[in-house]
Amino acid sequence: MTSTVKRECVYICPKKNRKCRIHASYSISPYCAEHLLHDPDLNEETKRSLRCPCPLSPSHSVDPSDLKRHLKVCNQRQIILGPFHRLLYNSALKDEVIEDNNDYPDILKEIDDEQLDLLIKKLEYLHDSTVEQSANTYKIHDVIQTELNKEDCGFKTRKHLEQIGSLIGQLDTLNLLNDDTCYVELGAGRGKTSHFLSMCLTEKINIDFVLIERDHQRYKFDSYHREGQQAGPPFIRYRMDIRDLYLPEIPIIKQKQSNIVVLSKHLCGSGTDLALR
Ligand SMILES: [Zn+2]
Ligand SMILES: [Zn+2]
Repeated sequence: MTSTVKRECVYICPKKNRKCRIHASYSISPYCAEHLLHDPDLNEETKRSLRCPCPLSPSHSVDPSDLKRHLKVCNQRQIILGPFHRLLYNSALKDEVIEDNNDYPDILKEIDDEQLDLLIKKLEYLHDSTVEQSANTYKIHDVIQTELNKEDCGFKTRKHLEQIGSLIGQLDTLNLLNDDTCYVELGAGRGKTSHFLSMCLTEKINIDFVLIERDHQRYKFDSYHREGQQAGPPFIRYRMDIRDLYLPEIPIIKQKQSNIVVLSKHLCGSGTDLALR
């Protein structure tokens, strides 16, 4: 029943709108192993005996007899990176299992008018008691201004550099560009903000960078910060969700106990909620 038949799977991938093209795996079906569950001519019992959805992610299926081995190698499995990686630590729903990274609960929907009114008053109070300067007046750090003045700086680069320059300007205003400091960038993406921040810190000593990013990134700025490169201290990058981050246990923070500055340029609303916790 499991002999290989060299036929292309007839499943049409909805995203690509074309045939799957992987060879059919079983003689009883023109579908490949991954799409066997979509075969309308197979009964449920036969399907179940051959494939089951992966318990870690329904996005793919598994041979039930191979399930134990698969759970050890599935790329959807949660890898605990260390004591600083505490699942759902910053989530308000520590006991709930959230299967999808984007499946954060929509708490605002559950808030009634009275609570919302209180929240708005609280935010207005916090704004008025902490924000002295209007947000549209900002200073750009000199190092970034020099980059902006270069002739080959295009529109898109300029926009990002201005945002980064403004963030670094804020750190400078708050007197947070110092020696003996670990900068933690949340939602670091390719590490561009940390890269330019490190350029503004060349005269400081004992500087570390920790970058937290959930997604896989290509063309990372980390390459400028490898051993032997001139661009400042190495980037320590952890691929993890901010909701699982327990800052005090990050090894470099625990070992050196320097000042810690947490910054972020790219976070969405729920990411910001998680980061603030
Ligand atoms: Zn297929
Ligand atoms: Zn799996």
